[in-house]
Amino acid sequence: MYLYNSATHKKELFVPNDPALVKMYTCGPTVYHFAHIGNLRTYIMEDVLEKALRYAGYNVKRVMNITDVGHLASDADTGEDKMLKGARREHKTVMEIAKYYTDAFFADCEKLNIKRPDVVEPATNCIDNYIDMVQRLLEKGSAYVAGGNVYFDTSTLENYYVFGSHDEEDLAVGVREGVEEDTNKRNKNDFVLWFTKSKFEDQALKWDSPWGVGYPGWHIECSCISMKHLGENLDIHAGGIDNAFPHHTNEIAQSESYLGHKWCNYWFHVHHLNTDTGKMSKSKGEFLTVSLLEQKGYDPMAYRLFCLQSHYRRNLVFSWENLDNAVAAYDKLIAKIATLKNEGEVEEEAFGQLKARFQKALDGDLNTSVAVTSVYDVLKAKCSDATKLALLADFDRVLSLNLLSAAENLQKKQAQEAAASADPEIDALVAARTEAKKAKNFAEADRIRDELKARGIEIIDTPQGAKWRKV
Ligand code: AMP
Ligand code: ZN
Repeated sequence: MYLYNSATHKKELFVPNDPALVKMYTCGPTVYHFAHIGNLRTYIMEDVLEKALRYAGYNVKRVMNITDVGHLASDADTGEDKMLKGARREHKTVMEIAKYYTDAFFADCEKLNIKRPDVVEPATNCIDNYIDMVQRLLEKGSAYVAGGNVYFDTSTLENYYVFGSHDEEDLAVGVREGVEEDTNKRNKNDFVLWFTKSKFEDQALKWDSPWGVGYPGWHIECSCISMKHLGENLDIHAGGIDNAFPHHTNEIAQSESYLGHKWCNYWFHVHHLNTDTGKMSKSKGEFLTVSLLEQKGYDPMAYRLFCLQSHYRRNLVFSWENLDNAVAAYDKLIAKIATLKNEGEVEEEAFGQLKARFQKALDGDLNTSVAVTSVYDVLKAKCSDATKLALLADFDRVLSLNLLSAAENLQKKQAQEAAASADPEIDALVAARTEAKKAKNFAEADRIRDELKARGIEIIDTPQGAKWRKV
């Protein structure tokens, strides 16, 4: 499988450290509010990555954190704690907020068929791990204490900007969000590993530490949670592109200084879901959630298809029109699958050829839009319906679009509708008309049609025979 690696800026053959187990880490949600559909684009594409690796035959262990402490309003370490902000907004405790929005996040994931990672670890579970790492970084001279906080010293690194060129906007991340510069920092990009002094003294959750009572910085949690469950060598780290700097850059800085060797081989970044006014974000106030889409009558599967139709390294523009197009495509696809009958044998050769096309799309840097196209190829292929159904079940291990179950539900609905409108007397008249036409008794055929018309029934001639409907 070839994947684009943000750390090397090229597509590379994916080779795990241990072929028996791929170790994958993904940054989890900050649980102070609902996930918006932009956040969920990232989780959908990470889910596809995990499933594509499993599809390619790898065994995968995937770990995700839940940020319930330490993520401040600015991605640089200043501003109010996001969790505290959520608690104030809703007049609840920080832990109540964390529980509520963690549950809401996984409920959204379930609706979107996003598999729960093998390990999900709340950041507040691992305080001792952070303290150990910070202590070691201080011993190694990679960190310093200033003004009551512990900072990572970025000047100790040969190369801090691992992901390469960052524009001025990235570098000004703190300034952009209107927060004051921290004068304790020796270097502009130094970041907090452990806070004991914050402008926001009323931080809700605090723990004892060798540097005083305080709380961890945001970046340290991902390094420690990853190492706790996946050890010192990570294969893939994933997240949204906005996490590349400063979050992932800082994760690498502290992890590699702590370990004394390379930490993670592949970095997978999902680009943003944008609206016509730019990146969808919670700080802008208005954002779309899965529940809101459902309230408006949208099936979450249509949103998943919408995401799969574009490449994860391209920005995706959300508009209602674009979503409506995905709905139409999804409905059409399911209607087509619903016409397949579980008949015939699975034809091995056709199965192999079509599967290879699908696999090739995934292996080419997770080209999900081409993978979706191979679903259409299956439907058009000259092979048995049994082969097609077997292929669709196989592809859906990765796509997770409910291809077969949604088609079965549609078949059931259609059967119920047909049963509800069944009328043996009218069926008999329609059959008599067909017979009359066959016998070239057109006068009788017309008479029956007129009789039915008078009763409000219209006959529709189709290639599959005459059908009727009430008008
Ligand atoms: P947060 O809950 O803010 O920590 O973000 C959760 C994940 O969503 C992170 O991996 C972010 O990089 C990602 N993310 C944030 N905004 C967007 C967006 N508009 N489109 C795609 N991913 C996003
Ligand atoms: Zn992270």
